[in-house]
Amino acid sequence: MWAVGSPQGAALAVAAAALAVAVAAAWRRPRPVREVLFFPCRPCCLEALLAEAEAEAAPARPCPCPLPRADTSLSRLVRRLLSARRSLDLCIFSFSCPLLARAVHLLHRRGVRVRLVTDAQYMGLQGSQIGRLRQEGIQVRHDQHSGYMHHKFAIVDRRMLITGSLNWTSQAIQSNRENVLVVDDAECVKPFLEEFERMWEEYNPTNYIFPKGSASNAVEIND
Ligand SMILES: [Zn+2]
Repeated sequence: MWAVGSPQGAALAVAAAALAVAVAAAWRRPRPVREVLFFPCRPCCLEALLAEAEAEAAPARPCPCPLPRADTSLSRLVRRLLSARRSLDLCIFSFSCPLLARAVHLLHRRGVRVRLVTDAQYMGLQGSQIGRLRQEGIQVRHDQHSGYMHHKFAIVDRRMLITGSLNWTSQAIQSNRENVLVVDDAECVKPFLEEFERMWEEYNPTNYIFPKGSASNAVEIND
């Protein structure tokens, strides 16, 4: 044993204190987000989840639909989205799922700043939710290329990335083999944020370039 007051004893006490501080810091630090979701997922009822997010204090009314209230890839995805408190940056090629549109609209109503980048050709297709979201006051910008704006990612509060193969369509959710990765690793989130900001600026309508003669063969998009 080292005597109390000896140099070895003091060094040991300092090391123990440093360890205690490190353990306390690790304990307080939120656990990193790393979640992998696979689709298709079985149908489930998300009314309670949405109602809870809508009116946090009010008790949710039971939904009369026959679907189970299950923990599924879709419910987990919606939970992640509804965790947004300040901003939601969306970059979605095809967006026709009414339920995900409801979640996005709910966040918009709750004061979350929602920005949506999408594909010019797909946003005009029947069933697209983009027009509805625009009418509800959500800012939407689209590409201006012959190629597709094919990304499918979301950034929650500029710190959590949701990305993968999943288009936000009921078909993809219920029928397709798809993957979604959720991470809050800053090294992954930062380049996606920068890419989003770059596209947001590039697709600003004031920066559009209309090639000569484009008016004569312009395609009308009903959004
Ligand atoms: Zn239901």
